Amino acid sequence: AIDTVRLELGARSYDILVGDGVLADAGERIAAVTRGRAPIVVTDANVAPLHLDTLNAAMLAAGIAPQPAIVLPPGEKTKDFAHFQQLMDDILGRGIERSTVLLALGGGVIGDITGFAAASALRGIDFIQVPTTLLSQVDSSVGGKTGINSRHGKNLIGAFHQPRLVIADTATLDTLPRREVLAGYAEVVKYGLIRQPDFFAWLERNGRRVVDGDSDARRHAVTVSCRAKADIVGVDERESGDRALLNLGHTFGHALEAATGFGQTLLHGEAVAIGMVLAFDLSVRLGLCPAEDARRARAHLAEVGLPVRPADIPGVAWDVDGLVRSMAKDKKVQDGRITFILADRIGNAFTRRDVDAAAVRAVLEEAV
Ligand code: NAD
Ligand code: ZN
Repeated sequence: AIDTVRLELGARSYDILVGDGVLADAGERIAAVTRGRAPIVVTDANVAPLHLDTLNAAMLAAGIAPQPAIVLPPGEKTKDFAHFQQLMDDILGRGIERSTVLLALGGGVIGDITGFAAASALRGIDFIQVPTTLLSQVDSSVGGKTGINSRHGKNLIGAFHQPRLVIADTATLDTLPRREVLAGYAEVVKYGLIRQPDFFAWLERNGRRVVDGDSDARRHAVTVSCRAKADIVGVDERESGDRALLNLGHTFGHALEAATGFGQTLLHGEAVAIGMVLAFDLSVRLGLCPAEDARRARAHLAEVGLPVRPADIPGVAWDVDGLVRSMAKDKKVQDGRITFILADRIGNAFTRRDVDAAAVRAVLEEAV
């Protein structure tokens, strides 16, 4: 079964195809975007040996003779200026035109840098997202945020540039390490927590099937997540309003990631899981949310195997003052006040400016 989610943005609307094995049959959909020509495929060295053949076979079946792919090293470090420069030189070296299409085959790192290359080349060419991690299928491939990191912080250089098509083949997740699946699952739970209590309840019953790779459960979770993100981006493409709700757990999360160097100690999704629990704890402490809702959020994340407190991460001596300082520097800060996404129950999140730093500190002290 294949689900199609449409992100409505007028002339820039696009489809997100979701299902087990959808990539193998996507040749015609790719050809419709590229007008029958070969896209320039960008991937990483982990994904290329696993999934590039499926993509190339799909294109061949639609009469597209694939070009050799550009294969970048895997990992967050690839999202830097040096790799971006190399990527742009490789792309331009192929003699591209305004009608050339890029195709990102990989996780969020490949999607973000390729999307930014598409936004930059000739002031903007089309691109297709083929996300191969759960995180990129439910989050980064949808919505048009593209970019790279600077030594001043993550994702500080970039552009809004929407893809023409997203192909989320859940079968590619079969080769994804379980830890990466769980990290992506945290973002799935996020959609339930911000405004879909019924979906959260479904995840409480079916979350294990999703992370264990059950094909129907996985498709449903990715589809609902993409639907949720597409609906939000469709009304707030540039994050002036509701799109900020997608940052639930991310203010705490980014501080935790920064403290651990954005590396393997704490993956982004793991930081988000902990951050969402802290956001619910903070909501309870501020008298906004029943303790029972915070307990349910925590219990579900813990049950599937995600960390739910900084103390769950072995070998890190957390510095609460450092974490609070780092949150105050987060790029989402306005007028020097810390803005948080809080919730008054499961399924109803909202933005709250000017949150009391003492309450933030107290929540962290209890959890480290
Ligand atoms: P990633 O791209 O680094 O992928 C994680 C790891 O899995 C990598 O080692 C990769 O090589 C490997 N991999 C990918 N697909 C695989 C597969 N099918 N089988 C086996 N291994 C596979 O990381 P990610 O978690 O996908 O994405 C994180 C990035 O996404 C961050 O840079 C983050 O800033 C960005 N992001 C962007 C947005 C956005 O809106 N643009 C949203 C959230 C996150
Ligand atoms: Zn995230």
